[in-house]
Amino acid sequence: MKCPFCGEIDNKVIDSRLSKDGNVIRRRRECLLCTRRFTTYEHIEEIPIMIIKKDDRREIYNREKVRAGIQRACQKRDISVNVIEDFLDELERDLREIGEKEIPSHLIGEKVMAKLHDWDDVAYVRFASVYREFKDVNDFVSELRSLLSHQ
Ligand SMILES: [Zn+2]
Repeated sequence: MKCPFCGEIDNKVIDSRLSKDGNVIRRRRECLLCTRRFTTYEHIEEIPIMIIKKDDRREIYNREKVRAGIQRACQKRDISVNVIEDFLDELERDLREIGEKEIPSHLIGEKVMAKLHDWDDVAYVRFASVYREFKDVNDFVSELRSLLSHQ
């Protein structure tokens, strides 16, 4: 890393610190030529997750959008913002671990539904009714029945 003062390439690291969330390393460096100090930041390159939608269009994964869908389903239910954020972290980790360049959108919908099913039946049914686009009330009732029979 070039010294911003004199352009020298060689320097030594005098301090390294990991950020609270563990995503950034901050390094204090000292130029070996002019001995002045500067700071560099190191973080993981975020590769966007590409989503294949139902109609085959591609879209960049959008955390805000997934969060909004979950929050709508969880309205007035007993599910904290932190719990939702933790789930989104976990979801993104899982999606990256799949290692595919493009991920079908239904995979995300199913992961969210499975989670909501664990958390709260009302939130689950709300989300499922939007996500599965129940064609009529019978679809909805049969979903409710299968939910109730699992209890
Ligand atoms: Zn220098």
